[in-house]
Amino acid sequence: MVHEPSMRMILVGPPGAGKGTQAARLVDTFKIPHISSGDMFRAEVKSGSELGKQLDDYMKTGGLVPDEVTIPIVLKRLAQADCANGFMLDGFPRTRPQAEALDKAMEKPLDAVVLIEVPDQLIVDRITGRRSDKAGKIYHIKFDPPPPGVEVVQRKDDTVEAVTTRLAKYHSETAPIVPFYESKKILKRVDGVGEPDAVTQRLKHSLGK
Ligand code: AMP
Repeated sequence: MVHEPSMRMILVGPPGAGKGTQAARLVDTFKIPHISSGDMFRAEVKSGSELGKQLDDYMKTGGLVPDEVTIPIVLKRLAQADCANGFMLDGFPRTRPQAEALDKAMEKPLDAVVLIEVPDQLIVDRITGRRSDKAGKIYHIKFDPPPPGVEVVQRKDDTVEAVTTRLAKYHSETAPIVPFYESKKILKRVDGVGEPDAVTQRLKHSLGK
């Protein structure tokens, strides 16, 4: 039997770095599931459940969902059979305790943590212009407008106010996971500025593809 090489990896970066867009492309290359904590939370909100209502309260202002809620949800998802041979985490871990909890839960070490770097000045423009269609495909009203007739919606937390909070949270809560992975010698830095195709090429290159 031929075994595909496993790839357990994390995409890290500020909001609007292109993690979602790039993850969707990379999972095709690596044949691994795309595990986005934000997508999982948005699905829960959409379901109208009690948990979804609580998540919505944290998310709509750009705040983080508490670690004690986030960690068990994501670890449960990673324990499912489709993640046995690898996964691409997008949006998790977002705090140092989440990174430590993931570390403890993993039977095998992570293969790579890729940091997509985009300066703060570019983020607000990228995010406030972001829209997605029903299937979740992401567009930008200026840089990648949806084709005529395609209906798109804006995320509740893609407003200027929420983006400002999300960026501040990124710097105070998420950036500290970078030295954690640097010390494990698995961190790779990729420039996230430029055309999405160019960024995809840089990411693949950094991952040896
Ligand atoms: P994202 O789609 O990754 O930008 O996530 C959207 C929102 O979901 C974030 O602004 C947070 O409110 C929440 N969220 C997603 N992932 C996490 C996480 N790992 N820890 C805490 N909150 C999260």
